[in-house]
Amino acid sequence: MPEKPSQPNIPAYLPMLIGGARRDAASGKRFAVENPANGETLCEVAEGDAADIDAAVAAASAAAPAWAATPPLQRAEILNRAAAILAERMPEFVAVEVAQTGRPVREMRAQLARTPEWYSYFAAVSRTHESGVHPFGGPYLNYTRRMPLGVVGLVTPWNHPLLILTKKLAPALAAGNAVVIKPSEVAPITPLMIAEVLAEAGLPDGVCNVVTGFGPTAGAALCAHEGIDKLDLTGGTETGRRVAALAGERLTHFSGELGGKASVVVFDDVLDTEAAAATLFASFIAAGQTCVQGARLLVQNSVRDRVLEMLIERTRALQIGDPTDPTTQIGPMVSEKQLNIAMKYVEIGKQEGATLAVGGNRLTGGDYDKGYYHEPTVFSDVTNDMRIAQEEIFGPVVCVLGFDTEEEAIALANGTDFGLAASVWTRDISRGHRVAQSIDAGIVWVNDHHRIDPASPWGGFKDSGIGKENGIVCYEGYTKLQSIVVKLSDEPFDWFEDSSDKRYS
Ligand code: NAD
Repeated sequence: MPEKPSQPNIPAYLPMLIGGARRDAASGKRFAVENPANGETLCEVAEGDAADIDAAVAAASAAAPAWAATPPLQRAEILNRAAAILAERMPEFVAVEVAQTGRPVREMRAQLARTPEWYSYFAAVSRTHESGVHPFGGPYLNYTRRMPLGVVGLVTPWNHPLLILTKKLAPALAAGNAVVIKPSEVAPITPLMIAEVLAEAGLPDGVCNVVTGFGPTAGAALCAHEGIDKLDLTGGTETGRRVAALAGERLTHFSGELGGKASVVVFDDVLDTEAAAATLFASFIAAGQTCVQGARLLVQNSVRDRVLEMLIERTRALQIGDPTDPTTQIGPMVSEKQLNIAMKYVEIGKQEGATLAVGGNRLTGGDYDKGYYHEPTVFSDVTNDMRIAQEEIFGPVVCVLGFDTEEEAIALANGTDFGLAASVWTRDISRGHRVAQSIDAGIVWVNDHHRIDPASPWGGFKDSGIGKENGIVCYEGYTKLQSIVVKLSDEPFDWFEDSSDKRYS
C-alpha cells in the first residue's frame, strides 16, 4: 500500500522572488492560499501588483543579456542540475501540490515524477539545436541563427501549477531568456519553490523572477509592460483574448494555451470494458479540471447503452475524498468558485432536457462539508447544441452523445468552437488515422488520452489557442531568427555608377 504524502512544510508567509531576493509586495499586501480539501489557510503570499511587476521586469532586463550570452553548454548544466534537485525534492513538491490543488496524491505523484524530464530535455535541445544554411541565388551564403527574445512573461493557471509552468520555464530558460512568472493566485506555492530550485542549481539572480498576485492587477500589469518581449499564457479563452490584445498593441510575441472541450470518439469495435475505462479516465482525472478533459463522450449508437451503463457503474464506484489518501481517486475541486461553476452547469443540463445519468450533486456530510467536493457527473441524451455540450465546464461534469456513422462522429467532434484535443478509440487502424486526421484539434490520441511528452508538440486550434508547447517548435518559439546574407564574390558593385542590367535584390 503506498504511503500518505508527508505533511507539507510550508512557511506561514511566502514572499516573492525578484532579482534573486525575497521581496514583500511594494504595497505590503498579502493574500491567503487555501487548501480546497478542508478550507484551511495553507500560507499567505505577497500580493504583488504593477509596482512589483515593474521591479521584476527591471531585474529580468538587467539579467537577460548575460544569460543570453551564457554558452548553451553552461545553460544546459544548470537546467540538468535543476532536474536533479527537483527529482530529489519530489516528495515535498507532491505534498504541496496536493495541498494547494486538492488533486489526489496518486495523480500528483504520477504527474510530477515526470517534470524533471522537461528541464533535461530542453537542456539537450539548447546544446544540440542547429540553425540552417539556406539556398540563395548567386554568390551568397545565407545562414540563420536563433537568438533569445529577451524577457518573457509567463502567466499560468492553477490546475497543474508545476507542470504547466515547467512546460514554459524550461524552454524559455534553455533558449537564453530571462522570465517573470505570474502564477495563478489559487496555487502559487510550487511556482515559488521551483524558482528556488533553479537558484540552487546556479541560475543567476534576476533570470527567473516570480510575482504572486491576481490576474486583473499583477497579471494585467505584466501583460501590458513595455519591457516584455513575449507573453506566454495558459488560461481560459477569455483571458487569452485579453492578453493577446495587450500583446497586439505592443506587437509582442504571444502564445496561448487556452480552454478546451475534448471529444472522446468511441467506435463499436472497442471492447465495452475498454470503452468504459477510457471514458472514465478521460472524464474524471483531476476531477475533470484539465484542459483536455474528455468532456464530450461520442459513442457509436450500437454500443452506447452498454458503454453508458458500465460508465455509470464505474463512476458510482469512484473513491471520492481526502486527496492525501493514496486510495482516493477523486479529490475536491480547487475552489468554491469552480464548485459553483460545476453546480451551475448541472442545473443548465437539467433545464436543457439532458438526462442526469449519474452524480449531479455537491457532496456533503462529515469531512465533505469542509471542502469543495462534487460528484462525478454524466449526462446522457445530450444534443450538440446544448450549452453543456459546448461550453467549457472544467469540472467533473461530462456528456454522452451518440452517432451512427464515421462521418457523423467527425462532424460532432468538430462541432465545437474549441480545438485543443480529442481521442479516437477503434481497433481499425485505418479508421483510427483517418478520423484523427479529420478532427480539427491540435492533439489527437488514438486509443489513449491525456498523454504528453516534453518532445511532443502540444497546443490547440480554434478557440483553444495559438502556439505550441513542448518539442523543438516550442524552443524555437522562445527565439527570434536572424538571417545573415554574406556576399562571397569580390566583384565590385556600384549600382548608381553603373547603368548595366544588374541584380539589385
Ligand atoms: P484563468 O484564465 O482564470 O487564469 C490563468 C492565469 O491568468 C492566472 O495566473 C490568472 O491570474 C491570470 N489572469 C487572469 N486574468 C488576467 C488578465 N486580465 N490579465 C492577465 N492575466 C490574467 O484560468 P484558470 O482558471 O487559472 O485555469 C483554467 C483555464 O486554463 C481553463 O480554461 C483551461 O482550459 C485552461 N488550461 C489550458 C491548458 C492548455 O494546455 N491549453 C492547460 C491547462 C489549463
